[in-house]
Amino acid sequence: MGEKFDVVVIGGNFAGVSAALPLARARRRVLMVDAGKPRNRFSHGAHNFYGHDGKAPLDAMEEAQRQFMLYPTATLFKGEAVRTSGQKDAFTIALADGSEVTARRLVLATGVKDTLPGLPGLAERWGQSVVHCPYCHGYELPPGPLGVLGVGVHSLHGAVLAADWGPATFFTQGKVEPDAESAALFAARGVSVERSPVVELLGPAPGLEAVRLADGRVAALGGLFVAPQVSPASPLAEQLGCVFDEAPMGPYLRVNEMKETSIPGVFAAGDIAQTMHSAPLAAAAGAFAGVCAHRSLIWG
Ligand SMILES: Cc1cc2nc3c(=O)[nH]c(=O)nc-3n(C[C@H](O)[C@H](O)[C@H](O)COP(=O)(O)OP(=O)(O)OC[C@H]3O[C@@H](n4cnc5c(N)ncnc54)[C@H](O)[C@@H]3O)c2cc1C
Repeated sequence: MGEKFDVVVIGGNFAGVSAALPLARARRRVLMVDAGKPRNRFSHGAHNFYGHDGKAPLDAMEEAQRQFMLYPTATLFKGEAVRTSGQKDAFTIALADGSEVTARRLVLATGVKDTLPGLPGLAERWGQSVVHCPYCHGYELPPGPLGVLGVGVHSLHGAVLAADWGPATFFTQGKVEPDAESAALFAARGVSVERSPVVELLGPAPGLEAVRLADGRVAALGGLFVAPQVSPASPLAEQLGCVFDEAPMGPYLRVNEMKETSIPGVFAAGDIAQTMHSAPLAAAAGAFAGVCAHRSLIWG
C-alpha cells in the first residue's frame, strides 16, 4: 500500500467502526484494519445493541464495515496489523500482506481475548450455554437451574445478579468463599453455595445439562456464568509502549479523558481500554475516540 493516512484505526468492530465513521464523515483519509475476529463471535447473536438486538455477530460487523466503506475517503484492510512504530504525526503500520502505511494518528480498537478456565467441556460451550454476561445471554438460557463459577471475588457479584435469570448456585471452586455481605445477599435472593468444585461439564455441546463435581455428584444446570481472564487481543499497544492498568479480570489500556493513551497521538477505545465490556459501551467509547483523534489533527 505505502499510503499516507490521517488516521489508521486498528480493529473494525464496535469500537473501531464507531471511531472510523466520524473521521470518514470529516472527509479525513482513514484506514480501518480488521482481522475479522470480534470477541463475541462465539455466540449466536449480539444483544442489548440499539437497533440490532439479536443480530449474528459477524453479520453486524460486516454491515457496519460496509456502511463505513460508503465514504470516499474510507479504506478497509481485511487482515492483521502486525507492527506499529513511530510517533505523533509519523506512525508506521506494517500490515499482514507485507505492506506498510503511515498515519498521523492511531486509534487502537483491537479488543481483548478471553482465557477460559481449563475445565473439560467448557470451551466448546463458550458463548452458548457458558456465558460471561447475564444481560447479553441470560435471557436465552433454558428455564431451570443456573450456575456461577467462582473464579475471583467479582464472581460473587455475578451470582447475586444471576438469580434474576433462574435458580442460581454459586460454585466456590475451593477459592472464592462468600464474605458476610455476599452471604446475606445470597440468602435474600435464594442463591445456593456449592463447595465441591465443578470438574466437568456434561450433555451434548453446545448445550449444557449438568456439571460433575469433584466428590462425584452430578448437579443439573442449563447454563453457567463464567467471568474469564482477559488480555489484549493484539500486542500493538505494548509495542508502542502504552501504559496499562490492572483490573481483577486483567490489564487494560490507560487513556485520558480524551481517549488518548500514554503515547501522544495514540487513541484507544473499547474492551482494550475499559473494564466494563459490552458492545454499546465499546461503540460509545469508539465514537468519542474518533472525534478526539479528529480534534487532535486540528489542534495538535
Ligand atoms: C461470547 C461473548 C458474547 C458476547 N455477547 C455480547 C452481547 O450479546 N452484547 C454485548 O453488549 N456484549 C457482548 N459481549 C461483549 C462484546 O463482545 C465486547 O464488549 C465487544 O465486542 C467489544 O468491542 P471492541 O470493538 O472493543 O472489540 P471486538 O468486538 O473484539 O473487535 C476487535 C476487532 O479488532 C480486530 N483486531 C485485533 N487485533 C488486530 C490487529 N492486530 N490487526 C487487525 N485487527 C485486529 C479483531 O479481529 C476484531 O475484529 C460478548 C462477549 C463474549 C466473549
